[in-house]
Formats: sequence, C-alpha cells, structure tokens
Amino acid sequence: MTKMRFLVILLCCVMLIPGFVQARIGEFTLRDELELARKFDLIIETRFPVVHDPYITGYVQTLVDRLVMAMPPQPFPIKVTVVRHGALNAFATAGGHIAVFTGLLSNLDSEDELASVIAHELAHVSERHIAQAIEKSKILGVGSLLGILAGVLLGTQGEGDAASALMIGTMAGTRALQLQYTRENEVEADQYGLDFLVGAGFAPYGMTGAFEKIRRLQWLSGGGDIPSYLSTHPGMDDRLGYIQDRIKRLPESVRQRQSDNAFFLRAQMLVRAWYADPNTALALFAPKAGDDQHLLCLKTLGRSIAHSRLKQKDLARTQFKAALSCYPRDALWKREFGRFAFESGTLEESVLALQDAIMMNPADLFALFFYARAVAEQGDYTASIAAMERVAKAVPRDPEVLENLARYQAATNNLFEAYLNYAQAFAYRRQFSKYELHLQKAEKLAKSDKDKERIKQVAQEVSEYQEILKN
Ligand SMILES: [Zn+2]
Repeated sequence: MTKMRFLVILLCCVMLIPGFVQARIGEFTLRDELELARKFDLIIETRFPVVHDPYITGYVQTLVDRLVMAMPPQPFPIKVTVVRHGALNAFATAGGHIAVFTGLLSNLDSEDELASVIAHELAHVSERHIAQAIEKSKILGVGSLLGILAGVLLGTQGEGDAASALMIGTMAGTRALQLQYTRENEVEADQYGLDFLVGAGFAPYGMTGAFEKIRRLQWLSGGGDIPSYLSTHPGMDDRLGYIQDRIKRLPESVRQRQSDNAFFLRAQMLVRAWYADPNTALALFAPKAGDDQHLLCLKTLGRSIAHSRLKQKDLARTQFKAALSCYPRDALWKREFGRFAFESGTLEESVLALQDAIMMNPADLFALFFYARAVAEQGDYTASIAAMERVAKAVPRDPEVLENLARYQAATNNLFEAYLNYAQAFAYRRQFSKYELHLQKAEKLAKSDKDKERIKQVAQEVSEYQEILKN
C-alpha cells in the first residue's frame, strides 16, 4: 500500500445542491427534494468517475440497506454512489443520497469498519444536518454549490484521472468552510451512527477501527494533500474517546460481534485490482503467512487482473487458470476471464465466459458491455445491440457505451438511433459542435412522434448538462 496516497477525511464536509437553499427546514416538498436528488445524480455522473461494477456498488448498497432497516423511516429511498477516488471519504447530500469513495474500500480492514463510516453519513441524513448547514451558510446559487462539490473532491487529489476529471471553483475552499457541519452535528452523527450500526447487527468496534484508520492515514499524508479547510475538522480524538466509552457500555454479546468479511474482501480485491497502480496491486496480492483459503483465492484472481492490466498475457492466463480451481462456477471469475480473453483477441472463449457470467448475474453491466463488444466483433449485431442497450439503460451518459451502441446501430442501418446516440456521446465528451451536427442529422431522419419526442428529451437533458458545466 506504500504507493497509495493516503488521504483525508471528509466525513464532515457537506455537499449540496441548489434549490435547497432558500427554504427553511421542513418546508421542502417531496417534489423539490426529488428534483434536487436528480440534479445531483447528473452532476456526479457527468463530473466524477463513478464506479458501475455491481460487485462493488451492489455490495456497498447491501450495507446501506441493512443500516436503513435500523433507521427511523425516511422520506426517500437511500441511494449510494461509489466514486472512484483514493481518499478515505464519504459524504451525504440532499434527497437521501450518499457517496462513498473507493479509498475506504481499499484502506479499511473489514465490513464493520466500512459500515461504520456509512452509518455515520446516514445519521447526517436522518438528522437533516445538511439542510441545517445550508441554512446557516446562507450560500446561494448553483455556482457556489457546484464549485464546492468539485472543490472538496479536488482538494484530495487521488488517482490521476479522478483529479483530471474535475474542475474547481476558485472560491470552493472558502465556501466549503462555511458549509461544514458543526461539532455538535458530528457528535450526533457518531451517536446515531453507532445506534444504526449496532441495530443492523454490525460490530460496534468497527467504528473506532475505521475512525482510527482515518485519523492515522490523514496524519501519514503529511498535510500536503489536505485542503486547509479540512484541518479545522472537528477533533477526532475527542470523538473516538466518546465512542469508545459508549461501546464499553454495550452488552458483551454485542461488543464481541464480528462480521463475515467474505464480500467485503471481494469488493476490496476488485477496487485494488482495477483502480490501484497495477504493480502496487500485485504487491498487495502477494500471499502472506496466515492468509486463509478464501483470501488466497481472491489474491490469485487479483493477480490475474493486475497482470492483464499490465498486458502480461501469459502471466495473466496462468493466474486465471490457478484461480479457476478456486472458482470453477463463479460469475465474477467468468466475467474477469471473459474480459481478459476479449482483450487478448480470443473471442470464442470470451463470449462463452461472458455468457455464463451474464446468466449467473444478469445485472452485471461490465459482463454485458464486453459481451456486446465481443459478439459485435463476431458480426452478431442483433445480440450486441440488445446487450449494449441494457448497459445504456443503466448508465445513460457514458460516452463509450453510447458510441459503441451507435456504431452497431449504424452497422445495421438504424441511422436515426445511431445519430442520436453519437450526438449524446459527443455531448458527454463536451464536444458540443459535433453534438449539434449529429442531432441535426437525427432530426432529419425522425419519422414518428416518438422519434421527435426522443430528440426533445435528449436536447433537454444536454442543455441541462451544459447549464451545469457553465458553473
Ligand atoms: Zn460527519
């Protein structure tokens, strides 16, 4: 883990969205907040590297779902987004949305620790601290709020493409300071968070474990990566002591709890294998004395992926073979092997593995994405369009997905759909003149009212996106 950058805590920074601002607590209509949440999604999806791997996002969502069961009823479904970024960080936003950084998955040691950080954020949600912070800050306007959103993330520069994907408003730091939760908010979030954690059956010491790690890694980072407004972060020392005291008063049976880490370790392996530097990942996946069978198997699969990222085909294939004895019928192994085979140009084995992966886990967007590309190369555009459309439905603003889909549609002479998808791909790559050009071509081909309606929808969504970019 030596090369990974250790970063920060932002357990405390608030991110928000326009519209929330003028109203007083309790005056928001359901519709206002839903609109807010939708806008937030658009910003996150188009400005930050979001993780779509269901083995990672699905896992984090199961933790959220468990914790939500232990919370008082919430007006909104709680939705979690996993952001690809090395910081040990999570934050809550409006409309019951929270974001979790991959840095938590790669640096924390257990399911209980990860659940603790999420529980803390969910407590900010349930206690409506966000609305309170907006009220107090008197920050108005889309620009300020979006600048803060970008600025807080940029302050913790992590892996390369995360940082380059962001733009920062110059005033972001100062404004983020105004938007911090109060110390009381933090103590409350710790208290309620611990209640949710224990109520959901997790081990309470996960919380002290997580906070200690966050404190330690923040210190190790030496401050260079930490934006100044984070140094005023409410004292972790006091909070840790307080949480420890509370845990001591819990029944022995609760204190002794320990979660099964099988799924946590699997998600952690994927985060490290795909998002860490591949050589760093290989070092992390070296077998160690004391590793149990499950961990050894995960590490073997992790090495397969890291070698495949380094284009070391033979090494990758050897490791995939070794991992196969651990995972003879495993959807994740099938998917990873299928992607590797696709990239190595062995289409037939790729299609077979990916087909299995999809059959076992129909929600696996990655498997679908590579399956669509593999069968397209075999000339089966009907199958490839069907698969890629499913991906595009789940991830509607990914230029690469849209481009591939457009290409298959063009190959089957469905030019209206092809131009419309090309147009969107260019828009989300921010090449707006090419977007206009392709949209016009689609307009000329539009026949039915349904076609015209689709064009209207696309134009509306893109203009909203352009509006956000202006800030
Ligand atoms: Zn907090």
